[in-house]
Amino acid sequence: MATRYDISRDELTELLAGTPRYRVDQVWNGLYDRLGEPAGWTDLPIAMRESLATQLPTALQPVAESVSDRGDTVKFLWELDGGSRIEKVLMLYRDRATVCISSQAGCAMACGFCATGQSGFTRHLTVGEIVEQVVRATERARQAERRVSNIVFMGMGEPMANEPTVWASVERMHGDLGISARHITISTVGIVPGIRTLATRPLPVNLAVSLHAANDELRDELVPINRRYPLSTLMDACAGYLQAKGRRLSFEWALIDGVNDRDRDARLLVERSRSLPLPAHVNLIPLNPTPGYAVRGSSPRRVRDFRDLLREGGVNATIRRTRGTDIDAACGQLRATHEAVSASAVVELHPRG
Ligand code: SAH
Repeated sequence: MATRYDISRDELTELLAGTPRYRVDQVWNGLYDRLGEPAGWTDLPIAMRESLATQLPTALQPVAESVSDRGDTVKFLWELDGGSRIEKVLMLYRDRATVCISSQAGCAMACGFCATGQSGFTRHLTVGEIVEQVVRATERARQAERRVSNIVFMGMGEPMANEPTVWASVERMHGDLGISARHITISTVGIVPGIRTLATRPLPVNLAVSLHAANDELRDELVPINRRYPLSTLMDACAGYLQAKGRRLSFEWALIDGVNDRDRDARLLVERSRSLPLPAHVNLIPLNPTPGYAVRGSSPRRVRDFRDLLREGGVNATIRRTRGTDIDAACGQLRATHEAVSASAVVELHPRG
């Protein structure tokens, strides 16, 4: 059965056949503006609200929610139909909020340093499962008097392994939830066919490529899909994306002590970045520790020096703040097993027997 946010406007019109046309607008408005449960959509008759609640079931069952010490990062754990679990992170800033969402339960890309990669792939998410993550985060952000302004596909999963579904969810966010495509970022490990398809799509979403290594030998090791789509092919697809969209592209680089944080790594990265029609912006982040990967993240000092080397080479680089490390909400720490969620910070919403 289609869940609440899987249904298209045409399907809703069919579902409501026999009721006046304006009811479709009211329900759509309830789904994408008012949010919350149909019971609260008070412009609709009570009987209709009740039947909508059963006809359009929610896709995400809350399992747990944890808040970081500072209260600015909230991690949600959800259960999907079939029992898989996904996570999503809401980051609150002074006057807005960013949501980091998942596109798959698990991930098949098997990057050794990433907790999701370590736990394997379960399945793709549906449009409704992706969109509902944003809706639930928006409700939560409203409670904190923030507006969700930015979406990043940097939770669990590889969005470009499921491009058509991810794209349909982007259209829903842009067209119905009012989040500008310019504020939506799709992060990919470098699935070339996905990037090429994305380049043909009409809306100007941002593309982030998780590079982590600028030569094939090292990248084959860190990001195994590189063996299928090596750097020359990947760079070519990135150039095509830039040409099609005219928007800046970014490279994600998790700094790993002694592995990809050496001076020559910085030099190679500068070369790769500048080989594009518009130099890529580099986002640096020290590697977050995960249970299955013994190597450490670079020291704060090395992270700064690496950034300076990039800047001296004419490449813009930013050091990303790691958010919510205390609640395992940081990059690469999202994983499907509830057991991995640090127990102290978790509020059980629906204890399971
Ligand atoms: N599959 C997509 C999106 C999910 S991960 C992708 O690969 O881009 C989002 C980002 O977190 C990616 O850049 C990923 O490489 C990075 N990441 C994964 N594990 C990490 C870790 N342990 N420390 C720091 N960054 C990590």
